[in-house]
Amino acid sequence: RSFEELGLEARLVRALSKKSIEKPTPIQRVAIPLILEGKDVVARAKTGSGKTLAYLLPVLQKLFADSPSKSNLAPAVFILVPTRELCQQVYSEVTSLIELCRVQLKVVQLRSTMSASDLRTSLAGLPDIVVSTPACVQTCLKNGTLQAKALQESLSVLVLDEADLLLSYGYEDDIKALTAYIPKRCQCLLMSATSRSVGVCCFFFFEVTNCYDLA
Ligand code: AMP
Repeated sequence: RSFEELGLEARLVRALSKKSIEKPTPIQRVAIPLILEGKDVVARAKTGSGKTLAYLLPVLQKLFADSPSKSNLAPAVFILVPTRELCQQVYSEVTSLIELCRVQLKVVQLRSTMSASDLRTSLAGLPDIVVSTPACVQTCLKNGTLQAKALQESLSVLVLDEADLLLSYGYEDDIKALTAYIPKRCQCLLMSATSRSVGVCCFFFFEVTNCYDLA
C-alpha cells in the first residue's frame, strides 16, 4: 500500500517524495493508519525500520488538522527520547517535514546542557512539538517553566521513542513522575527495539489497544 492509501495527506506524501521516500516500510504500513485513528500504539521497531516516520507522519497530520483552532498554552506533542543524538535526529526529521509542508508549526528540542533560562526561552515561544529527554521535561515542570495545568489541558500525543533505552538509561523515575500530568484523552505511542520495557511502560501509561511486534 502507498502512503496515500494509508490515509496520509497529499502535502505529506509530496514532502516524502522530495526526500525520495516513496514506499512505506512494514512498521509504517501498520502504525500510520492506527495512529491516525487515534489508537494508542506499542510497536517493537528497530532503528532503521522507519519507526521515526511511522509516528511522526500521522502525528503531524493530526496537528495540521488541529492548528487553525489552536490556543494552547503548552505543547500538544511531547516526544521523549533517551539520548542527545536521537533528540537531534528526531528534531531534524520533524523540522524538515514541517518546512517541506510549509505549515506554521513550531518545534523545539530541550537538552540537558541548556540553562534554566534557555529552557524558559524555548518554551516561551509556545512550541507545538517538544523533543526532549524525560529529565529535561521534569526539570521544566519542577521549576515552573512548564505549567502542569497548561500541559494537562494541551497534551494530545505523547511518544516514548526507544522506550527500552529510556528505561535502561535510568529515566524511569522521570517518566513515572510525568504520568501525573498526562490527561486521559492523550494518545500514547511507544516505540521500543526490544520488549524489555514494554510491560513497564504499559503499566505506567496505557490502556494498550494495539501492540505490534515488527522487530
Ligand atoms: P529510523 O528507523 O526512523 O531510524 O529511520 C531510518 C532511516 O530510514 C531514516 O533516514 C529515514 O529517513 C529512512 N526512511 C524512513 N522511512 C522510509 C521509507 N519508507 N523509505 C525509505 N527510507 C525511509
